Amino acid sequence: MATIRKGKTINISQEIIGKITILDNIQNTFSVICNNLTQTVFLLTESTRTSINDNGKALILNNVEYSKLNENDLIRISPSGKYEILYSIKSNDNLLFITEKCNSRCIFCPQPPKNVDDFEYYFNVNNSILDNLDKTVEYIGITGGEPLLAKEYLFKLLDKINNKLPHTEVQLLTNGKLLGNKEYFSEISNYITDKYIFGIPLYSDFENDHDNLVGCRNSYINTLKGLYNLASIGARIELRIVLNKVTISRLKQISEFIFKNLSNYF
Ligand code: SF4
Repeated sequence: MATIRKGKTINISQEIIGKITILDNIQNTFSVICNNLTQTVFLLTESTRTSINDNGKALILNNVEYSKLNENDLIRISPSGKYEILYSIKSNDNLLFITEKCNSRCIFCPQPPKNVDDFEYYFNVNNSILDNLDKTVEYIGITGGEPLLAKEYLFKLLDKINNKLPHTEVQLLTNGKLLGNKEYFSEISNYITDKYIFGIPLYSDFENDHDNLVGCRNSYINTLKGLYNLASIGARIELRIVLNKVTISRLKQISEFIFKNLSNYF
């Protein structure tokens, strides 16, 4: 999820998502072009806030935050003044955040999952991001929570990525468990092309260690099935081992396990 920052809003009563554009090159002022084109939102500092009329919509930022804005960045602004850069033109680490839900409970999760109904909300946000992206974007990541849980919402986004951004490399971060389900895999494989790379963690050669670390029984077996399913269609896989006390103590064993059981497939 992108970093959420705080400014002050003027006359903004609903969430706004749009592309930042330069309004005035001389004064270096920005505005936001919203998807529905029915409103213009000015991005201002305390010293330039007087430049809008009484009905004007604006987000007021301090000078430091203002200086981080770039033309063609995508921004989301909430009425409370919280805002985030959804897509930064200068970053090579832009993400589509799919959901805060997850079907694991990893003990080292940097962003513990929430049981919220957010598939549709993030679908709409991500759809707006894709609407505003240029075909030349080289890379985009997909993450969560566990993105595969959003199923149809995710599939619609993959379809749009495949049609709108045919040359963009996509890294999909997942625990891989749903890929072990035959029916699920058969559906998602319709969208997988060689531009996708699946980032999947395997924490141990030893089932109990893996399952204890991710906080759910049967995770190890389902992730392995998912890896084999991906390998069966020649999908690109980035196997990830997060180093911690448990994984370090069996690093040699997991390396041998991967070499013996998985290296023929990847
Ligand atoms: S799979 Fe990822 S999002 Fe889910 S609990 Fe583990 S680290 Fe957190």
